Amino acid sequence: MEPMLIKPPNNGEIAIYIHWAFCLKKCPYCDFNSYVSNNIAYKAWLAGYFASIESQKKYFANKKITSIFFGGGTPSLMPPEMIFQLIDYFNKHNRSLGFGDVAEITLESNPSTFEISKFKDFKAAGVNRLSTGIQSFNNDSLKFLGRNHNAVEAIAALEESNKIFDRTSFDLIIGLPNQTLADWQAELDFALKFFKEHISIYQLTIEPNTPFFRQGVVEANEDIGEELFLHTLETLEKNGIMQYEISNFAIAEAESIHNLNYWQGGEYIGIGAGAHGRVFFENKWFATMEHKNPKIWLEKSQNNANLFAEFEEIDNGSRFEEVILTSLRTNRPINPLIDNFLDKNKVQTLILEGFLEKTAFSIKTTTKGRLCLNYVINFLLT
Ligand code: SF4
Repeated sequence: MEPMLIKPPNNGEIAIYIHWAFCLKKCPYCDFNSYVSNNIAYKAWLAGYFASIESQKKYFANKKITSIFFGGGTPSLMPPEMIFQLIDYFNKHNRSLGFGDVAEITLESNPSTFEISKFKDFKAAGVNRLSTGIQSFNNDSLKFLGRNHNAVEAIAALEESNKIFDRTSFDLIIGLPNQTLADWQAELDFALKFFKEHISIYQLTIEPNTPFFRQGVVEANEDIGEELFLHTLETLEKNGIMQYEISNFAIAEAESIHNLNYWQGGEYIGIGAGAHGRVFFENKWFATMEHKNPKIWLEKSQNNANLFAEFEEIDNGSRFEEVILTSLRTNRPINPLIDNFLDKNKVQTLILEGFLEKTAFSIKTTTKGRLCLNYVINFLLT
């Protein structure tokens, strides 16, 4: 049976992702769409963002913007005035529809002294949630990861962001080569001193086309990776911090609205070089991606040319798969429409094996299911 149309869970609401494609330095494990440049024409970039917004206006025209996420790259390198202009536009959009200001506005930052000095200005520009790329508190690990900051700067960034913002998060990387449980335990215990409401913990993965891949750096073996992760779950849970997505943990009510919308199959507009979007327009889903190369993106924006490198309708089956892949990552029930189309025998087997659990109207993954997500997905979808 062909899967039916999966509408956005909160029809009439949409999120905005804005991509800033530049960093001070390229980290050797990073395969994000980010570049180093000493010559950035900020005014032209701001005009480019507004060209993109204008070209995508029909997809969000009558909708409530629920979140804005400035990601990258390193968006904390953007001038606060530029961030203000963008936030102001979307706040005005929401107000004109009677919705009030956008509820969650996140900016990703890095802990350099230059960026820390701008935290107050980001808040004044309208940012209400700051997410800082700490990655480690250990100077040797930071050096290995090719990061631009040291542990002292990491601590200074977190102290300052916790002082200025009500809502903060920071990222750590787990599973560095030769990392022992004792190393990670020390790192996590230290991190808890600076925890306010949300933390993201990502496994180090070695992606093709990165210096780490070329140098032959190897990922932590599966057993150690699992041991470190189970320790993480246990330690955070003891502190009232719950896993709500594979790599994301928060106290109650402090989950990222923006990312939950994405994982649960909501709509989002992607603005900026290489930014992806998923829009629901005239009862159809479309996948969008703007030109990846910043130079090409900027030139196209200046020539009023089409900024999309991709704009494709997504058929029901593909959208079904996308939503199941992302929603099973979370601790939330999957869309009941999707549950109805899954093979009931397979679902029952996964429930009996403790990978899934029943909810009032649907199913969701258990902690064990999220730990073995590839197995669960392969079993369900093949
Ligand atoms: S700062 Fe972040 S986006 Fe920039 S190169 Fe490093 S990991 Fe990639």
